[in-house]
Amino acid sequence: MTSVDLKLAAPLDRAANAAGAPHAAQAVTGGRVLVIGSLNMDMVAHATRLPMPGETLQGERFVMAPGGKGANQAVAAARLGAQVAFVSRVGMQEYGAALLQALSAEGIDHGAVVQDPAALPGIAVIMVAREGGENSIVYVPGSNAALTAEDVANAAPRFSVGSVVVAQLEVPVPAIQQAFEMARAVGACTVLNAAPAMAVPPALLALCDWLILNETEAAQLTGLAAPEAAAQALLNSGPKQVLLTLGAQGVLLASAARLRPLSAPRVHAVDTVGAGDTFVGAFACGLAEGRAPLDAVRLGMAAAALAVSRPGVQQAMPRRDELPVEFS
Ligand code: ATP
Repeated sequence: MTSVDLKLAAPLDRAANAAGAPHAAQAVTGGRVLVIGSLNMDMVAHATRLPMPGETLQGERFVMAPGGKGANQAVAAARLGAQVAFVSRVGMQEYGAALLQALSAEGIDHGAVVQDPAALPGIAVIMVAREGGENSIVYVPGSNAALTAEDVANAAPRFSVGSVVVAQLEVPVPAIQQAFEMARAVGACTVLNAAPAMAVPPALLALCDWLILNETEAAQLTGLAAPEAAAQALLNSGPKQVLLTLGAQGVLLASAARLRPLSAPRVHAVDTVGAGDTFVGAFACGLAEGRAPLDAVRLGMAAAALAVSRPGVQQAMPRRDELPVEFS
């Protein structure tokens, strides 16, 4: 019989922490991060290879874990000690309650997550091949697609001066636009991770203090293969600064002053899935605690380097005391 390894990345008994209360192991540094984004359950089946169309293949292992770019980035920031609040929509059919409990276990304030009693949460069905590490994913957005600008407006008390507001493109653009307008109005910093790749309206780009994307997404958006040219084109499209992530090579920072490559720490990578989310969450945490941008980028790269050196997505994200002492 196939062995089934059914586990949640965050044990549910840790959900005893009330929403908003930091987990005991975390040192809260005072930086506030507000994430507008997706919340999914990832269902991951591992097999020797991917099945052919129409084929039934016996798998080796099954893991169920909370995911979604929004939730991943919220967890990355919370693990490093930021005070994180999350704005989202979660379908309460099936896995909704477990997803909320997992946020609580990380000390993430989910008071502004709207609960849809009759909907399914976002679900990603992922097949991973042991040989070659290839994967195939079917993503069903579920309640993530129903997040509205009004839902975000109702979270107004969670927008505060000096905080960092982070979004990705797995929730509708009008909700993100609303969030960034509110951020600008209160004097918060805005970070858009333009993933998955899709056209971003100029009005939203103009509200971005930071636009973050990987090389592939940058090439898709600009049609330019060279990272330097893509970063410059993206900078010209409206955001104040652009960060292009370049995998093991690190990051390219583009600002009005110049293009600046920054090297990532060298590590033995075993699983790079979620590197981008770890980087974005850690970078936002760094900005929120008042670090200079270059220092926040280095914090993001240090956290992501540690995450890729171990398996899993949220489960691989480091806590503050695991980072080099310069980031304590
Ligand atoms: P993913 O989609 O897999 O989550 P991504 O493609 O969005 O990731 P990457 O550019 O691959 O993002 O990685 C984000 C950051 O993580 C990089 O800028 C780098 O700092 C760090 N990183 C990724 N891979 C490695 C690696 N092999 N060694 C060290 N750091 C890495």
